[in-house]
Amino acid sequence: MDAATVGRLCPQCAAYGSWARPGTGLAIFLDAVTGLGLLYEMDRYHEADEDTYSDEEVGQAASVLILAAAGSEESAPGGAVDEAEDDAEDDNWEELQEARQVRETVFAEWLDALTSLTRVYQVLDHFPWLRSWARAGVQLKADHLEVLRAQATRLVAPDSLVLAAAVSVSEKPDLPSDDPAFALLGNPAEVAAQLTSLWRQWRSKVEDSWDHPREQQYHHHLASGISSRRKGYDLMMERAQELLSTWERAAEAAAADEGEECVLVARFPDAALAQHGSREPFVDRLSEWERAVLASYTVAVDWGQPAVTVRVPQLVASCLLSGQYVLAYDVPAQETLESVDVAEPLPGADEVLRPGVFDDTPVNGRRLVTVEHLRALRSTMADAEQLYVVLGVGTGVEVVALSALEQRCGSGWQGVILAGASDLPDAVFETGLLAMPEGASEGAGVWTPRVYDPHDEAFGRSLSAAEGERVLVRLCEGRRNAGQALKSLALARSVADLRDLEAAGYDDRGHPRSPFAPAVWDGLLAMEQLNLEPFGSGSDGDWPRGSGLPLGVLASVQAYTTDAAGRFQGRAHSPDCAHRRPHPGVDHHDEIVTIEELLGNKEFDPCSKCGGYAVRRLTDPQVAFYRAAHRLHDLARLIRTTSRQRAVDTEKFTRTLDELGDLDTQTAEAWFPSRGQARQWQRITDRLRNQVQQPPAT
Ligand SMILES: [Zn+2]
Ligand SMILES: [Zn+2]
Repeated sequence: MDAATVGRLCPQCAAYGSWARPGTGLAIFLDAVTGLGLLYEMDRYHEADEDTYSDEEVGQAASVLILAAAGSEESAPGGAVDEAEDDAEDDNWEELQEARQVRETVFAEWLDALTSLTRVYQVLDHFPWLRSWARAGVQLKADHLEVLRAQATRLVAPDSLVLAAAVSVSEKPDLPSDDPAFALLGNPAEVAAQLTSLWRQWRSKVEDSWDHPREQQYHHHLASGISSRRKGYDLMMERAQELLSTWERAAEAAAADEGEECVLVARFPDAALAQHGSREPFVDRLSEWERAVLASYTVAVDWGQPAVTVRVPQLVASCLLSGQYVLAYDVPAQETLESVDVAEPLPGADEVLRPGVFDDTPVNGRRLVTVEHLRALRSTMADAEQLYVVLGVGTGVEVVALSALEQRCGSGWQGVILAGASDLPDAVFETGLLAMPEGASEGAGVWTPRVYDPHDEAFGRSLSAAEGERVLVRLCEGRRNAGQALKSLALARSVADLRDLEAAGYDDRGHPRSPFAPAVWDGLLAMEQLNLEPFGSGSDGDWPRGSGLPLGVLASVQAYTTDAAGRFQGRAHSPDCAHRRPHPGVDHHDEIVTIEELLGNKEFDPCSKCGGYAVRRLTDPQVAFYRAAHRLHDLARLIRTTSRQRAVDTEKFTRTLDELGDLDTQTAEAWFPSRGQARQWQRITDRLRNQVQQPPAT
């Protein structure tokens, strides 16, 4: 995929759908370029079309508007008879409405062209090798943008904008509340209130408008609820009109002192332009006045930011710096003032998204991942948050969530992405699912009933990793993301501390941003406890009486709990407990301990509802050893209790003890981390064998 290939793509063919797997560099690239991305934008607002007004049409509309701003009533040709005058007035009004419509359309087109070109620059920022291909098209768009801007400028009288600014920053004038002409409005206090309200409404109309203040005929609202037939009405309206004229003249006086022009930088609101395809919502929020200011006074656009540089009269500047506007206006830093640079900003080579960052190239061609790459990933993918396998020089191969990877890159970690969860081959997981016992995934409930008899082969299975997969598949049944959930589970299993998988931040819907579906937690953790009775001391005083078995491979099994050692107020809870906060899974509010540590914590005080902790699901050898320990423990109990009453089933017991005691090397190594523990197990089975073979006491 290079610039030549992109040149052969056609905007229509490329408009919808993506051909690449999501999350790969290729998919990000295609998403940015095809669909409603670069090709779409390159094809818009690059030349005049049937909606574009010609310069003549704009000139015609401009002369009508400028005339209206200059006060057309006074300058209208007089002397005709009344009827003719009425007709002329109707015509004028209609002409003015049409001119206003032209102005609206031209401004809307100019702003859409502006945001379209901004999006083009954003894509080119990520994929700089497309620049040479895009150069000619960008030039066309820039030229057309300038044509539209020039048209827009003609449709607004610049002095209207300055007068509006003068009104906006002016103080409340003295109001003639004791003028008898306003007596119809009530006593002097009521008159004062009405006139203040008139002033505020007039000012707010004027400061948002691109028309001359003279065109805001606001005084009629003053007389609402007062009959025009009342005596003094006409006089009052005349005085109100005079009052507006007074305010207008005050604004003109204030505007007369022009002062120096100021250069300001206007930044687009955050997150503007992030979503391609749709109309920019911030454009609709711009007032007429702000739109006209941008069109009339723009001197440069920094496409990289994006930001617009405006050179404005001082009054307009004081407005922009003090008021609330859609764009954020600021005085530029001194160095940018010197050279208002419209050239393309050239990002450093590492900041751009070339192929080779995500899994779209062979591993030996991978490039170091940077914060900018991950930002591009997030801005183009709806569900970018997932688990990634990464390789760092100092950290080796690890599995981390995207948000954790962002943090690392931000703090100087250097490494490459090997694969995302979604990149893993489906084949691995499909065979895993097919291998599940018949009926395990159908008919049976999500949760298999717990088995309490250690001589049953299914004993301990509910704790197993395989059961975790089965449960996850059942929980995701009928959902599209079942495959992704299994992949996430497989990756998450290699994370040493599951608390590192906690949600980081929030997504745009306000949900905690988790790297996988909540059900994956049930694949990682068994929400039940180990029965540790066989590993308790074998002394007679203890109850329940243990068998003193070594913990073996169970010693290092992780337990997650809110309070492993009874240090906090209240009982300890499992991640699954209703007494706990509602988020699924574990996070850094939880504690992680090994089963061995937990067994030694005398202060551990578990909740009776949830059992106090969840275990990280057991490997096959751990499950096998857990069951063997319980069989041996149960046998010891049987031998102890039955030998006194009747003849022991010597043969059966001996057979089981032989099976449990004579471990092959492989099993012994899988069950016991040390030789000492294997010997301890051996001694216990030998002792039981001796007891069985002794004649029963009489
Ligand atoms: Zn086509
Ligand atoms: Zn609980």
